[in-house]
Amino acid sequence: MVDWDRQRSRLSDRLRERVADEDVLAAIASVPRHQFVPDDKRHDAYADRPLPIGSGQTISAPHMVAIMAEVLDLSPGDRVLEVGTGCGYHAAVTAELVGPENVHSVEYHASLADDARETLEATGYGDISVRVGDGKEGWPEHAPYDRTYLTCAAPEFPAPLVEQTRDDGVLLAPIGDGQQRLIRAEKQADGTLDSEDHGGVRFVPLQ
Ligand code: SAH
Repeated sequence: MVDWDRQRSRLSDRLRERVADEDVLAAIASVPRHQFVPDDKRHDAYADRPLPIGSGQTISAPHMVAIMAEVLDLSPGDRVLEVGTGCGYHAAVTAELVGPENVHSVEYHASLADDARETLEATGYGDISVRVGDGKEGWPEHAPYDRTYLTCAAPEFPAPLVEQTRDDGVLLAPIGDGQQRLIRAEKQADGTLDSEDHGGVRFVPLQ
């Protein structure tokens, strides 16, 4: 029998070198990543690396999910929009920090969204809402969001996403064609963004 719990808590401990937020580390220690990845990748679920999840898409390495959660500065009750549900793992980590009913995620590929819904239900995160659609348009019904993040790279923050984020709210995304930077942007009262660069990253592009 593989001791997944032990592997997972070791992973969370190793991430302590790069992530200081204990709530984020606890979230990583809680979400069963092995249940989100394809069966033939399970043995690698707690290695700190990206994994293929089908439809040509990739689940980010755990340290990237943790860093994004830390940079977003998530608090219980924050209403969050995620673009790019993928297998649902990142959404589940976010749900640990804000509560599953506050996480709204848009996925382009219907097959990935269906699988993610099923996995989220089976792992206790069924209150996360997942919609199939173009994440560039956001999800206006649940706006305004305190936090908005993309798990795929965009040339710039799509205007509807900026619109659907509240004033003083935060957006986070890999930005750039080709070379990408992880950009955190705070929305100002006049609608402009105050941006901060968190370094070079590599994500699949937005469709
Ligand atoms: N957060 C995911 C990682 C997903 S990889 C996880 O934990 O598994 C990026 C995801 O963005 C892919 O699933 C891809 O299908 C999705 N995506 C790409 N373009 C999109 C778009 N325009 N709208 C919504 N999702 C998109």
